[in-house]
Amino acid sequence: MSVQPSTAAALARAVQSGASSPQALLEAALARIRMARSLNAVVSLNAGAEAAAMWVAERVAEGETLPLAGVPIVLKDNINARGTLTTCGSRMLANYISPYDATVVERLTAAGAVIVGKANMDEFAMGSSTETSAHGPTLNPWDRSRVPGGSSGGSAAAVAAGLVPLSLGSDTGGSVRQPAALTGVYGLKPTYGRVSRYGLVAYASSLDQIGPFARSAADLALVMNVLAGHDPRDATSLDVPPAFRVGSPDELRGLRVGVIRESLEGNTPGVEAALEALLAALRGAGAEVREVSLPHLRHAVATYYLIAMPEASSNLARYDGMVYGERVPAEDVSGSMTATRERGFGHEVKRRILIGTYALSSGYYDAYYSKAMRVRRLIADDFGRAFGDVDLLVSPTSPFPAFRLGEKMGDPLAMYAADVDTVAVNLAGLPALSVPAGFETVGGVRLPVGVQFIAPALGDERLTALAGALEGIGVVRVEPARA
Ligand code: GLN
Repeated sequence: MSVQPSTAAALARAVQSGASSPQALLEAALARIRMARSLNAVVSLNAGAEAAAMWVAERVAEGETLPLAGVPIVLKDNINARGTLTTCGSRMLANYISPYDATVVERLTAAGAVIVGKANMDEFAMGSSTETSAHGPTLNPWDRSRVPGGSSGGSAAAVAAGLVPLSLGSDTGGSVRQPAALTGVYGLKPTYGRVSRYGLVAYASSLDQIGPFARSAADLALVMNVLAGHDPRDATSLDVPPAFRVGSPDELRGLRVGVIRESLEGNTPGVEAALEALLAALRGAGAEVREVSLPHLRHAVATYYLIAMPEASSNLARYDGMVYGERVPAEDVSGSMTATRERGFGHEVKRRILIGTYALSSGYYDAYYSKAMRVRRLIADDFGRAFGDVDLLVSPTSPFPAFRLGEKMGDPLAMYAADVDTVAVNLAGLPALSVPAGFETVGGVRLPVGVQFIAPALGDERLTALAGALEGIGVVRVEPARA
């Protein structure tokens, strides 16, 4: 796509003013999705989209003002929207059609958005590359021989390629921020509890959080004001009304930014350069930038996987062929359950159920799960101490730009290590935003690089304000990728 695609804010204005219509925006989005089919970013379409667009058109004609009037959006395929396939990238749920809307879908729809379709993802959100999907991998729109990151790779690629201005993903250990970084867009992981998880298929419930992808700070603020807020149907939902806005460069003066020392090792030259350039720009705008140490961060990846896998092993027990999705018949019930799980789950999901069950089993619980829970507390305390001295923390989002398809699939530990910069944030329940911070040229191809800002709990609003300020000084900018 050669022209800068429209933002959600501009599309909603066009609908509101009568310059465009929700039906026309839907048609255009569907045409772009068709043209970009080879990216494999969108895995199914919403049969109810046309009716939703008409409903929005009627509301607007009646004089209602809707913040996302007619804005086409795609959802990660683990978010339930009534009448849509919700496969979670798994054979297990290949034919599962949602009977209800997630709270985020209700909110988006009420705000005038039109759910166009569902985006590809790693199976049950387990992965960092979107390669474990039963639908096959999504390609990175900047370089089709590379992954878009994961697990919300389809949602990231859809926004990066300009198919839609906004999408939703879920972030359990980095699955919004890391693909945002690898595709050159914004990706926000809210404070745990700020966005309802009702209707999100659970992976690791104490870590999961829904978050948006966007191409501008203004769109990020716009959609967060729709998504965030209390939901009685999610027991962990927080009653904090959203007040997201875009900041200006003068707000950078005196801002105290802590660079996480432990994140400065092991990065590629392009990632180092992008971080350095961003820090220089922050200093130039009057921010106080200093290094801070979070000593327990080196245990974050091990701790994360020792908590995420046990939670997953418990959450995925429900896929036994009796209630949801596929069922493989056998002589008796137990045989059918075994055959269903054997056939329905992919390799990585099985690995995690096995490791997770092992870590919870009697005799190993104390050595693994319980110890991980104690280290989780130490990591959260590190963040708490750091935020005594600084307003925001910063690190790379990923130590490297997009890697090649297949490069890490044979080496699970290398894949897990891709999450080194993101998982600690989920362990501590904090909000964090990946911003597009530049490019690293690899083999003549420009690959996007992301930088992550972390705020204290409930400091989510600081992140969209910061993004606006960084756009204002020109150091952060989304460029359109070739679809
Ligand atoms: N890559 C991490 C994992 O595989 C994070 C996934 C996510 O955030 N959903 O668990």
